[in-house]
Amino acid sequence: MIEDLHWLGINWQEGPDCGGPFAPYAQSERGDSYLSAWRRLKDDGWIYPCTCSRKDLALAASAPNDADDEAIYPRTCRSRTDSKQFAEPKGVNWRFRVPDGESIRFEDLHLGAQEYTAGRDFGDFVIWRRDDVPAYQLAAVVDDAEMQITEVVRGADLLKSTARQILLARALEYASPVYFHCNLVRDKTGQRMAKRHDSAGIRQLRESGRSKQEVLRQLEQLP
Ligand SMILES: [Zn+2]
Repeated sequence: MIEDLHWLGINWQEGPDCGGPFAPYAQSERGDSYLSAWRRLKDDGWIYPCTCSRKDLALAASAPNDADDEAIYPRTCRSRTDSKQFAEPKGVNWRFRVPDGESIRFEDLHLGAQEYTAGRDFGDFVIWRRDDVPAYQLAAVVDDAEMQITEVVRGADLLKSTARQILLARALEYASPVYFHCNLVRDKTGQRMAKRHDSAGIRQLRESGRSKQEVLRQLEQLP
């Protein structure tokens, strides 16, 4: 991706390929930061261990509101009180206990006022996976805070994740950045472009002999 973005003429001042004041930038090298956030969340009672299997969840789950989103967790493990017994996160999923019924509001710089209700629009979400990998939600919040990010620009498919991340940031006593969610790029049939739909990535377009200008022109013509 880094190579393809540079090919397209997009450059940046700091990042995994060029370093910078907040290095390291690769999440695989930032484990200590995520681990200390996990410890704080655990010690302050924000998270709990969840041992539900995929099968348990599939049986209990109500369907998510939109196809791309995860189902609301049925709160099976929420009342567990054994989190203090864990010295490290691995072996179970760790879920964030959302404040049921609370409205999470934020002003998106592109899409305007947003509002999601915890426990209804999204449930207790995983912040650390049982295979010992910090989940996206936690890694993003910790990175944004430690790298002093003030404005996050990303796709509108992450709007609801912003509500989750605002809750996580609040629990960790971080200031939240402001958000600008872009409309998703769609293909000619109106489908969002995604690897799993086999959409043409920059790499494929490049390998098929298209020039940088042609790729940029093609982007501008998308619906
Ligand atoms: Zn569970």
